[in-house]
Amino acid sequence: MNTRIEQLNALLAGKADCALVTDDLNRRYLTGMKSSAGYVLVFPEEAYLIIDSRYIERAREVVKDCIVLEQEPQVLRQLGDLMHRHGAGTCALESMTLTLQRAALFTRIEGVEMLTNSLLSQALYDLRTVKSAEELAKIEAAQQLAEDALDALLQKLHAGMTERDVALELDFHMRRHGAEDLSFETIALTGAHTSMPHGVPDDRVIRQGDFVLMDFGAVVDGYHSDTTRTVCVGEPTEEMREVYGIVRTAQDAARAAAKPGISGADLDEVARAVIRDAGYGDAFGHSLGHGVGLEIHEFPVASPQRKTLMAPGNVVTIEPGIYLPGKFGVRIEDFVVITEDGCRTLTGIPNRLVCV
Ligand code: ZN
Ligand code: ZN
Repeated sequence: MNTRIEQLNALLAGKADCALVTDDLNRRYLTGMKSSAGYVLVFPEEAYLIIDSRYIERAREVVKDCIVLEQEPQVLRQLGDLMHRHGAGTCALESMTLTLQRAALFTRIEGVEMLTNSLLSQALYDLRTVKSAEELAKIEAAQQLAEDALDALLQKLHAGMTERDVALELDFHMRRHGAEDLSFETIALTGAHTSMPHGVPDDRVIRQGDFVLMDFGAVVDGYHSDTTRTVCVGEPTEEMREVYGIVRTAQDAARAAAKPGISGADLDEVARAVIRDAGYGDAFGHSLGHGVGLEIHEFPVASPQRKTLMAPGNVVTIEPGIYLPGKFGVRIEDFVVITEDGCRTLTGIPNRLVCV
């Protein structure tokens, strides 16, 4: 297997003489080194990580695929000298994450044309959307932490707890058992609040018969997980059961359709059609899913406009929902990895309605 830097070089061949990577996540992806600053300068024949004194000792230990150099006070000159030494006439920059100010700075390097088109960002995203076995193992470890937290919560979930209590229980459990971070601010909503897809937990108290909607995830070694479960405290009404069943059917249908070659739009439509046919088309406003990896929202995206085709190794969420303002909402979110002939669900807990 080629290194990530070799794979990047293959995508840039003939289009740029070198590439300058400054985005924190892309730098970490290429080098395995987590830091809040630094430069990866990639040439076809050699790659360099230029990093300041705060990180240099660690970088020399962990970085294997590039030459580690300590950042000099005049970093522009240092970068320029390397470009000149390697005879580079063009350098690709990251159009999707680099600020205009920093891009302008790099154009001061003489004799090298800075390419601000989408070439480099797109190449890095293309690489990052296809997960290796090693990356999948990290995502699954993160997911396991989240599921263990849900298990522990369900043992004690009861009427009288607040949304904030629920979120804190999940967060504490994930952090206590090894999460390096939370994937995002945990969403825990109850009662009528559940109709707000991304509501913020507050002091609202769970009452008997309420839905509790929880959207949460853990980070392990940089990789995120993402799960939503809607559970009932006590007995749901007929309408709550019916709506839950429709969302679940929509999710199962999309899962069955997820395979290489299906577009993000077509995958979204499989779930959306189930919800529309059941008469709730207006109650599902967001897209079906998104990629998950070093970022909680990345490519590929499953939404009505996306023509991008799913490919083996893609990780994507399947999270249909029905939201009825003033009443309640249901979202069920699993995530899957696209395989050679279908998909494998990375979520280990079932999607049936749980009542506690
Ligand atoms: Zn989520
Ligand atoms: Zn999600």
